[in-house]
Amino acid sequence: MNINTGIIFKIKKYAIHDGPGIRTTLFLKGCPLDCWWCHNPEGRMPGLQVVKTDASPKGRGEIIGEKMSVDEVLAEIEKDIIFYDESGGGVTFSGGEPLLQAAFLLALLKVCRDREIHTVVDTSGYVPAETFVDVCSMIDLVLFDLKLMDDEMHRRYTGVSNRRILNNLEALSASGTPHRIRFPLIPGVTDTDENIGSMAEFVLAMGSLNRIDILPMHRIADEKYRRLGLQNRMTHKQPPTPKEIAYVKKQFEGYGFRVSLGG
Ligand code: SF4
Repeated sequence: MNINTGIIFKIKKYAIHDGPGIRTTLFLKGCPLDCWWCHNPEGRMPGLQVVKTDASPKGRGEIIGEKMSVDEVLAEIEKDIIFYDESGGGVTFSGGEPLLQAAFLLALLKVCRDREIHTVVDTSGYVPAETFVDVCSMIDLVLFDLKLMDDEMHRRYTGVSNRRILNNLEALSASGTPHRIRFPLIPGVTDTDENIGSMAEFVLAMGSLNRIDILPMHRIADEKYRRLGLQNRMTHKQPPTPKEIAYVKKQFEGYGFRVSLGG
């Protein structure tokens, strides 16, 4: 695939939780992680994908993903430029893992920068270091997902080691590119005192960040798993209660962080 074409599996208009202001969020397909709590399981496999669902016409499948050129994506983005200007918003690239389509993402970031459109990238940080540094230099704000500090737990719940992720976060911190941590609150998995404590210490040691967004687990993807025939490993988990969320928020605040709920 050339750098002017990529695969997008969703475009969300008027998004208000994916960075500042009103935004258009583009979901790029493919992710190297396999998080148990993933809300976008349809976006994990790279490339176009045909799946048979209840809603599929007989003998046919539903195509997930659309091949789009940079110009086509830009045309979508530009439709809402008035909202970005009025609200201090812009464009967010999410996924999947948007940096998996690094050349395409870089081309999109360049055209946005040429037009002075504010860009946000939501990333797991699980990409090669050179790619990460190259792409981050073109982003206005990075939303960096940080899940589990214990490597064994990270491997268990996401399928990969966290070493590359932590290294990339340190490089991001040193680079001066504005960034915020996003923390998925998964009861009994990420919300232990130990995980929160070592995450706070790691982040504070970098000295560049004092802001964390808590993203409480929810069940809105249950229907997607069922429809796509994918295994849902979170069926036994209930979303955190307001009391549990308040407890985690207070813990991070106790370390001196400014904490937002839901991004
Ligand atoms: S990093 Fe995000 S998109 Fe990838 S599997 Fe985890 S939750 Fe899903």
